[in-house]
Amino acid sequence: MTSQTPRDCLFCKIVAGEIPSDRVAESERSVAFRDITPAAPIHVLVVPKRHEPTVGALAAASADDLADVFRLAARVAELEGVGDAHRMIVNTGSDAGQTIFHAHVHVLAGAAFTEGKMV
Ligand code: AMP
Ligand code: ZN
Repeated sequence: MTSQTPRDCLFCKIVAGEIPSDRVAESERSVAFRDITPAAPIHVLVVPKRHEPTVGALAAASADDLADVFRLAARVAELEGVGDAHRMIVNTGSDAGQTIFHAHVHVLAGAAFTEGKMV
């Protein structure tokens, strides 16, 4: 699997403020910012400040960081007014559509999701 070191990682640079982002929320361990190419009216990315290439690797490295990412994702959904109508999506591996190898959760809402279909 492709991996990036924090040195050349786009999301590490966003976390550090070296690359601008439209931040919507932050916690001690995680940062939430709007996706630059939204796939739905509300599309926010929640990333741990710690660099791990995938959510699975994050889970193995730190249960606290994993929990914090999902806690912040739920808070973002509440802040955006879609606490009861949103999707959280995690892509793992380039064949599944992962393009940035710094763990992240997509929070999507505001679109009419197809009932009974995952994708
Ligand atoms: P994934 O395909 O699951 O790895 O998700 C990566 C996401 O990062 C994509 O939805 C991109 O649109 C988004 N993205 C890429 N560059 C930026 C950026 N500079 N600021 C915000 N979102 C970005
Ligand atoms: Zn990173």
